[in-house]
Amino acid sequence: MMPQVTTLSNKERTKLPHQEMPLRPAESRVLNFDEVPVGYSNDQALSESLRCLHCKKPACVGACPVGIDIPGFIRLIEEGDPAAAAKKIRETNFLPAVCGRVCPQDKQCQAVCVVGRKNIPVGIGNLERYAADYERTNGTLEIPVIQEPTGKRVAIIGSGPAGLSAAYELTIRGHEVVVFEASHRAGGVLVYGIPRFRLPLRIIDEDVRFLTRLGVRFVYNMVIGKVLTLEDLLHQEGFDAVMIGTGAGLPRMLNVPGSNANGVYSANEYLTRIYLMEANHFPKYSTPVSSGKKVAVIGAGNTAMDVLRTAKRLGAEPTCYYRRSHDEAPARSEELKHAEQEAIGWRWLSNPVEFIVDENNFVKQIKCERMELSEPDETGRRKPLPTGNFFVEDCDTVVMSLGCSVNPIIPSTDAEIRTNKWGVITVDSNTCQTSKKGVFAAGDAITGGSTVILAMGQAKKAAAAMHEYLVGKPVSASFEVLNGVPATVS
Ligand SMILES: Cc1cc2nc3c(=O)[nH]c(=O)nc-3n(C[C@H](O)[C@H](O)[C@H](O)COP(=O)(O)OP(=O)(O)OC[C@H]3O[C@@H](n4cnc5c(N)ncnc54)[C@H](O)[C@@H]3O)c2cc1C
Ligand code: SF4
Repeated sequence: MMPQVTTLSNKERTKLPHQEMPLRPAESRVLNFDEVPVGYSNDQALSESLRCLHCKKPACVGACPVGIDIPGFIRLIEEGDPAAAAKKIRETNFLPAVCGRVCPQDKQCQAVCVVGRKNIPVGIGNLERYAADYERTNGTLEIPVIQEPTGKRVAIIGSGPAGLSAAYELTIRGHEVVVFEASHRAGGVLVYGIPRFRLPLRIIDEDVRFLTRLGVRFVYNMVIGKVLTLEDLLHQEGFDAVMIGTGAGLPRMLNVPGSNANGVYSANEYLTRIYLMEANHFPKYSTPVSSGKKVAVIGAGNTAMDVLRTAKRLGAEPTCYYRRSHDEAPARSEELKHAEQEAIGWRWLSNPVEFIVDENNFVKQIKCERMELSEPDETGRRKPLPTGNFFVEDCDTVVMSLGCSVNPIIPSTDAEIRTNKWGVITVDSNTCQTSKKGVFAAGDAITGGSTVILAMGQAKKAAAAMHEYLVGKPVSASFEVLNGVPATVS
């Protein structure tokens, strides 16, 4: 791309049309798992970059959990240098291609973009993805400067966005980093939760390979708390500090008759079997999943949208059952819109009360009570109220997508790790240090479930504090902050 510096006034910039991210057509995209948004062309990226006003006090930067210099990288795209733009993003964000695809920009940086006051905000996420993809496809990624070895060893438990970010931050500070991961590949929810049509596997694999090039070692199939404990890591294995990044993978299930029937899954299990264990290629791979003909998905959050769209691609007729109405659905509007484009069934104001089974205890029908919404209460939210009217529909698979909690395995094997009443690991909010000396935590394990970028932001904070700890500086420790409640779809 030719460098081009423009001299557009702010008035001229605000008149430029927003560039929509092109999508593959709904009819063809449901036939496979290829990525749905195709990415900006060079011309589109340039046009969108020209919409940024380069605010003196950019609100977008303050709303980014890792503080990316947003106007700075957009300026570099405008100047025709996407490789430099990617490098600029990498100053604070180690996973730009991931974040450009999955971050909820509509609730963070783009929500406060001044252009959005009267117009569509600048497409910050789409531009981030553009720069990151340019870097990947043109091989412009540079190896960062790594500090002299400190001789200190750090164990990171879990290889989701929190673990990967912390691994990067600690490695470039000169520490030796080993990541212990329970499953057989790295990435956490990026690999086993977020579907391939939103986040292709090659992107995560490249980020993991990059870390290994920097010297990070990954130990797979290693469940900390079962095979080795925190104490083992610190005393027997000789690590100087540990970071817990184990996420919030314990699913919530509805407690109604038939919940334990064959063919009833949690969203985590359903997506994990498909994306991590390749269940959709059974019997080539050994973990089957009933992708079924009629899949009933309970809940209407982002994970429910991922399950619905995955089931559709496996040839099923998925239907969403949610006890509130469309307007209360917790999914991001874009996720809901994409699911709606893909010919999925919707049963709003429908509360499942039973899963009816056949003589072999396989689910065959779902029974729901029709709900109605109350007047808004003091919180402004309308509650779903039962009507006493029921309906029954056929289904052969049920997937519950009702939120998750933190897995208790590590706190339950180390009495020094404190949790709040929901099992969320309690940390000092400034340093992410847990109640156990030398052990830090970040990500969903300390929030009960949030977002990729928040997990990364906490991991950066934890890594900075761990570095201080490792080089012998005092780290503050106050554990009164309860960091969160488990994520739930209500
Ligand atoms: C289906 C789905 C879709 C989502 N979509 C989005 C989205 O579009 N955008 C967004 O921002 N967020 C999304 N999220 C949320 C986001 O993925 C999480 O907030 C984020 O992944 C949390 O990162 P983490 O590193 O804390 O944990 P995880 O990503 O959960 O990683 C934890 C890792 O720790 C490993 N582990 C657990 N216990 C142990 C143990 N005892 N020993 C060793 N390893 C262990 C796990 O195997 C896993 O690899 C989604 C979540 C789900 C479930
Ligand atoms: S708030 Fe919007 S216009 Fe201002 S710098 Fe950020 S992206 Fe550009």
